[in-house]
Amino acid sequence: MTATDAAPRTFESLDPRTGDVVGTHPVHDAAAVQAAVDKAAVAADWWRGLGFDGRLPRLAAWRSLLANRIDDLAGVIVTETGKPLDDARLELVLAVDHLDWAARNAKRVLGRRSVRAGLLGANQAASVSYPPLGVVGVIGPWNYPVFTPMGSIAYALAAGNTVVFKPSELTPGVGRALADTLAEAVPDAPLLQVVTGYGETGAALCRARGVGKIAFTGSTATGKRVMAACAENLVPVLIECGGKDAMIVDSDADLAAAADAAVWGGMSNAGQTCVGVERVYVLGTVADAFAAEVTKRALALRAGESFGPMTMPAQADVVARHVADALAAGGTALVGGPDPVHDGLVDPVVIADVPEDSVAVTEETFGPVLVVNRVQDVDDAVRRANATGYGLGASVFSGARGEEIAGRLRCGMVAVNGVISFAGIPALPFGGVGDSGFGRIHGDDGLREFTRPQAVARQRFALPVPLTSFRRPASAMKGLVRMTRLRMGR
Ligand code: NAD
Repeated sequence: MTATDAAPRTFESLDPRTGDVVGTHPVHDAAAVQAAVDKAAVAADWWRGLGFDGRLPRLAAWRSLLANRIDDLAGVIVTETGKPLDDARLELVLAVDHLDWAARNAKRVLGRRSVRAGLLGANQAASVSYPPLGVVGVIGPWNYPVFTPMGSIAYALAAGNTVVFKPSELTPGVGRALADTLAEAVPDAPLLQVVTGYGETGAALCRARGVGKIAFTGSTATGKRVMAACAENLVPVLIECGGKDAMIVDSDADLAAAADAAVWGGMSNAGQTCVGVERVYVLGTVADAFAAEVTKRALALRAGESFGPMTMPAQADVVARHVADALAAGGTALVGGPDPVHDGLVDPVVIADVPEDSVAVTEETFGPVLVVNRVQDVDDAVRRANATGYGLGASVFSGARGEEIAGRLRCGMVAVNGVISFAGIPALPFGGVGDSGFGRIHGDDGLREFTRPQAVARQRFALPVPLTSFRRPASAMKGLVRMTRLRMGR
């Protein structure tokens, strides 16, 4: 037995509310991952050959099955994440809606279409199509263990790829349950296979021969490792990482609605949301009134009822460190105190006027913590909101200037007079900039992400004077240059 063989061949997933073991799963090694990718490659030929019209009814069958099993699947999510049942249901409702949209829109977005060939190509018929990549590897996180990976899985499948999915080691049972439903709806071929294990299993997926792309969702640090592994074989990557999303509250905002959104956006799912609200910048004139509205709502929440425990227990230490740093730096606790963590739960915390260099402002907290800082004006708010390496989502509450402010934010998505609303609209692309990653899931862009554009120029008739031939007369180029000067040189 070698040192590497000593790794356990199975691992357990736990209910974070109780610590009880809820499942035992294999640790898939590189050989097992390669075998899954090889099977997926065979299935991909069949799946691609069905075309959009053949895939649509099959994906619709999966969608129906998922819709009818929402309660069963939500139960699996609850046991592995500890989130409230209705939050798990909402996640599934959104995932089903995205699957439906991706399946119904794939042909429109990806089917062959003609483009104008232009003057120089007047004798050509030009068209572009978006064939699938073959096998897509999806590596997912635990916080939204169905909704998040489905942003890649549904769109990759609708584009004609098959998928090998490596769920988080905290939510392997959810990944397995998801794949089982597709196998039940479309038993013909293994369209979605699950490989389970820790980071090494994910790394093996990045390195497996025949993977056309890796769609990764998780932390920025892991995203860099995924890119490095994919670089070995020049495998393209889609990187969806964390964020430090800001909310801007303008002086003419509906403060009650803004406070409601800030508290939900910051504290639902115990703050373990990539596009959760972590920082609020509120204009000074309305700062006190807004803080009162936020305080009232946050005080009404109960950890363990309104939201679940930290799914990853170690995250509680990060949250406690950020809260301690914010208070030590001079922030004022409006709700909660320096010791918010107990029994795996984190109580709601709202801290006002936290210096911008505190880790509670600069790093992803991923807990039920809101920093509420007053700003002089909208320019100040925009500057602070953008002063982070992350750039995932944002929200803006404003009576008159919502979209204008949104346009000044360096991030991938903005909700105006709402929070996280963009994630539930399948037609909108989802993804970040900077440390939040690159590439897009959802929407037309999310479908194209799992394809390669293929350009075709078909000659309709031969030009009387050939330009790309050794038979080209010198006079032809003279004439062409003269014509180009006339058209372009003005
Ligand atoms: P993580 O980075 O620890 O793990 C993500 C996945 O990567 C897991 O499946 C893990 O096993 C795998 N992995 C770990 N090391 C690997 C390696 N070397 N090679 C390949 N795979 C490897 O992240 P997490 O804790 O599961 O998720 C939380 C993070 O995800 C937060 O930062 C959150 O903001 C982010 N997130 C982002 C989005 C988004 O869409 N942008 C959505 C949800 C969560």
